Amino acid sequence: MTNNVYILLGSNQGDSKENLANACLFIKERIGLIQTKSSIYRTAAWGNTEQNPFLNQVLLVQTELKPMDCLNNLLQIETEMGRIRKEKWEPRVIDLDILFYNSEILNFENLIVPHPFIAQRRFTLIPLVEISPNYVHPKLNKTLLELLEICEDSLNVEKLP
Ligand code: ATP
Ligand code: CA
Ligand code: CA
Repeated sequence: MTNNVYILLGSNQGDSKENLANACLFIKERIGLIQTKSSIYRTAAWGNTEQNPFLNQVLLVQTELKPMDCLNNLLQIETEMGRIRKEKWEPRVIDLDILFYNSEILNFENLIVPHPFIAQRRFTLIPLVEISPNYVHPKLNKTLLELLEICEDSLNVEKLP
């Protein structure tokens, strides 16, 4: 049984473009087939404006892994790629978040799905809308395109060529 998982990749340390590409290789190996990749987008750092801008990308991946196994593999990839966790919203080589898992609503202590900030962040909504505009957010019951149209985030999100 395969499951559809949407993953957000983010990087604002080192060669961010290369970090996203390497993360895709790890994800292909450990999570499953990458069915769709969004473009890469550049955004000013959210929540902490003193940092380098972020590059972000969303993947739709087909996986046989259960949600917690998916999360644990993603956290392991972050560690192997050199991410060190100290403070919240510090610069990072790679950040891998689960946005959606099928249309499930999950509230584990260390895994909340859908990711709680999707509707507040243009850097998440814009790549999501690029690949799945009509996907319905299972908690908010609106399509991703509708969520983007009402999103109040003002950070500029620039598509890279
Ligand atoms: P934000 O949630 O604002 O994007 P972050 O990605 O910077 O924050 P991290 O420090 O990377 O936060 O992650 C902290 C913890 O969040 C992880 O260890 C993980 O257990 C938990 N977590 C909860 N829900 C999710 C999710 N949907 N995807 C990834 N991690 C999650
Ligand atoms: Ca994140
Ligand atoms: Ca994270």
